[in-house]
Amino acid sequence: MDHRTAIITGAADGIGWAMAQVFARAGHAVLLADLDGEKAAARAAELGPRHLSAAADVTSEDDVTALAALAAESFGGCDVLVNNAGIADRHLPTLEQDMAHFSRVLDVHLKGTFLVSRAIGAGMLKVGTGAIVNIGSIAGVAGMPRRNAYGAAKAGIVAMTRSMACEWAGQGVRVNAIIPGYVETDLVATLIADGKLDATRLRRRIPMGTLARPEDIAEAALFLASPQARYITGTTLNVDGGWSAFGDSGDASPG
Ligand code: NDP
Repeated sequence: MDHRTAIITGAADGIGWAMAQVFARAGHAVLLADLDGEKAAARAAELGPRHLSAAADVTSEDDVTALAALAAESFGGCDVLVNNAGIADRHLPTLEQDMAHFSRVLDVHLKGTFLVSRAIGAGMLKVGTGAIVNIGSIAGVAGMPRRNAYGAAKAGIVAMTRSMACEWAGQGVRVNAIIPGYVETDLVATLIADGKLDATRLRRRIPMGTLARPEDIAEAALFLASPQARYITGTTLNVDGGWSAFGDSGDASPG
């Protein structure tokens, strides 16, 4: 995989940073895009001189156009795109949810995934090869009270994964999505610290009894983006420790 290139959005932290490390280790030159350009630059420097960074808000068409231009100029294109950038819902009761936050959650996840896929996908279609991996969530599959915007955005990402996959399947560009369960990142740590998630109950709901590590999601993305997955497109891969498989009453594990 020596000459492969990857763009990862939201790469300065959490799952995105794990993705950047895993893809770099597998031989990709990585372009780390993040809202926090300074942090992304520091992370890219940590990975080594082949890697690049960009300050980019995935909801901004101008930022995304500049990101695609940087990838074209510096990498000569892009083999892999991981649409990872995301923000959490506020976990408020529906009647207390305001439109500004609702729209921002939809914008970052749904509009962001669309804009970046459109911009980077254009280059992939030109050369007739590429793989896009989107990041969904179990919140987009199962009903999670108080998570209207987040759940809707993640469900929309899966719908868009399927539609783009079918449109581009004959042109060498594959599009898939990962459905992570709960992952040990700052995003989840903050929800636990704020009392919006109960860590003990959470672990008991997971058949494997533990949260995922960011690397677990990154390794799955690496596979979906790899030539080994050449016949896989339009699919979703659950990486959730068995969360989605569990339908019994009571706890799924001792936690
Ligand atoms: P983190 O908050 O740890 O990292 C998200 C990164 O995305 C941050 O660096 C953040 O930058 C960046 N970001 C946020 N908004 C934008 C934007 N508009 N443009 C560019 N970058 C942006 O989150 P996680 O690593 O936990 O989550 C990563 C993805 O995985 C998200 O899509 C999330 O929904 C999904 N996911 C996470 C799960 C979990 O349990 N953690 C479970 C299921 C899915 P900054 O810090 O500057 O805001």
